[in-house]
Order: sequence, then C-alpha cells, then structure tokens
Amino acid sequence: MDCNTTALREVIANFPMRINPYFLSLIQSQGDPIWKQAIPDTAEIYDNICPEDPLNEDNLSPVPNLVHKYPDRVLFLVNSQCAMYCRFCTRKRKVGTEKMVVTEESLEAGYDYLRRNPAVREVLISGGDPLLLPDDKIESILLNLRKIRTIEVIRIGTRVPSVLPMRITDNLISILRKFHPLYINTHFNHPLEITSESSKACTRLADAGIPLGCQTVLLRGINDHPETLKKLFLGLLKIRVKPYYLFQADLTKGTNHFRTKTQVGIDIMRNLYSHISGMAIPTLVLDGPGGKGKIPLTPQYLIEQSETVIFKNYLGEICSYPEPRD
Ligand SMILES: *Cc1c(COP(=O)(O)O)cnc(C)c1O
Ligand code: SF4
Repeated sequence: MDCNTTALREVIANFPMRINPYFLSLIQSQGDPIWKQAIPDTAEIYDNICPEDPLNEDNLSPVPNLVHKYPDRVLFLVNSQCAMYCRFCTRKRKVGTEKMVVTEESLEAGYDYLRRNPAVREVLISGGDPLLLPDDKIESILLNLRKIRTIEVIRIGTRVPSVLPMRITDNLISILRKFHPLYINTHFNHPLEITSESSKACTRLADAGIPLGCQTVLLRGINDHPETLKKLFLGLLKIRVKPYYLFQADLTKGTNHFRTKTQVGIDIMRNLYSHISGMAIPTLVLDGPGGKGKIPLTPQYLIEQSETVIFKNYLGEICSYPEPRD
C-alpha cells in the first residue's frame, strides 16, 4: 500500500474520495476489506488496461443519464453523489465529478423518453446514489415515474443501507412505501458491513414491504474467498436481504487491481451451491464489455448429455437422470 501523499493527491484529482464517519468507523486496521473499498490507492492511476466506460453506457443513452440496453427496462441515473466513493466503482469516470450532471431538465428528458417508450416496464433508479437526494426530491421522482402507466415496477439501486444506514429515516420509509411495487437492490461486499445499524436499516425497509436484494462485487483482496462470501450471503439473509447478483469486476479504468480471474468466482460458486441455503446464493454474472448484457457464469455440473444425462453433484459424486423418450 502506497501512502505517499503527493501520489494520493493525484489519485483524488482523477477520482473523487468521500468516506463518511460511519463507514470510516468500520475500518479496523490499515488495508482491511473496508479500507480497501474506501481509501484511494495509487494503483488507480497506473491502470493502462481498462477503458473508462467499459459497458458503453454513454453510447447506450438515448437521453443523458438514461441507459437503455434491454428492451423492457432502463437504468435511470438521478444523482451524481454517493455516501462514499467506492474505489472499484464501475461509473468511476463520472460519479461524484462535474462530468456527471443531473438537472431538472435531464430528469424531465428521462420521463419524456419513458412516456414515448411504453415497452419499458421497469425503471432502475440509480446514480450515484438516489437515496442521498432530499426526501422531497425522491418523492417527486417516484411520483413522476408512477404517473407513467406503462411502468410496472420501480427498482432503486442504493448503497445507503450499507454505507450510511442512518439515512433510512422514518420519513424516507413513509415516502418509499407509497410507490409499490418498489424493490431495492442494495450493495454489501463484506461481512464487516453487516452491523447493528445496517441490519436495522434493512429490517425497517423490509418491514415497509420493500423486497431487498443485494448486488455484491467480487473484489480481489477484499472478498474473493468462499468463506468470506458464505458469511456475507448468510448474514444478508438474516437481515432479510436476498443476494441477487455477484458481479465479476468490470473492466473500468482505475479498478484493474480489483479484478479476479473468472475461474476464481466460478470456484467460489461451486463452494456455495447446495452447501448453503439456495436463498443465500446470488447469480455470478459478468457484465459483457461494450454493453452486451449480463452473462451468468456457472460452475459446470453436466458431464454428458445423451439419453441418460450424467452429472457431478455438489459432493463430486456422479449421478444420472434418464431423459424422457420422444
Ligand atoms: C444491469 C442492468 C439492468 C438490469 O438488469 P437485471 O438483469 O434485470 O438486473 C438494466 N439496465 C442496464 C443498463 C443494466 O446495466
Ligand atoms: S455507491 Fe455505487 S455508484 Fe456510488 S461509488 Fe459505490 S459503486 Fe459507485
């Protein structure tokens, strides 16, 4: 770990830093899994491998801050700020900087696009972090989206429950619960993030009838171990959060040092399937470079597929299943 201050200043000039007192308080020692997520590292500016916008989001945006990749759902970025800036952020090129501008006009352009595109049945509100906006702003966005009758489901992507759980106030909850069906996908990466505060935030959201999912990023040196992720996913289930995706780290400029080989994730998944509750198991996905969509990465259990299909089970035992006759 390079703690040279001049070099760190250069990192921060390229990629913003923010660590709030709550998340800072979770650091137990230098270089631990919380530290590595939040504290800038000079490796960020020596990344000459990754592109700035690996998922091609900017080119897939028909209006600014709205990414339309799949036919029936869109990603709508409504805030540029986060409660802390994750060093591995996939939108590192713009989140928390003047390159990401959300205005009343850009929001209106988004609503207008959604009115003109009735095939979109789900809107994923993200950013930055939507829940860092003032309550009345959040309410206004949700009201505007709910006025568009073709939108069936609203999903909020937020890291607030894990990095600033005290933001989940009674008033915020009373707003959110008016807009069902509303889902929240939050983002925890390490068991150290499951605290009494974050547990309380999740439990209160769940009590308001909001189904909670978790999008975890597989990060080298932070959580790339089966025991760590087992503990995380089982811990999330206890606070009523269903692990949804485990992401292969994106190819984002400034984050190359966090990437694992794809086999690392696949091996971890093999250690999870059937060994722990299926409820606690997310899908490992790779977000296809260039905006090709999410591709599941799955351990191979199938050995042979003929009239009888041969498998290996979770214990490595061979088993078979006869196919039905035509
Ligand atoms: C990930 C993503 C979605 C949502 O995909 P799900 O598989 O439904 O979670 C939608 N739009 C974009 C641009 C995305 O990157
Ligand atoms: S909370 Fe999400 S958008 Fe914000 S810095 Fe972290 S990964 Fe990026």
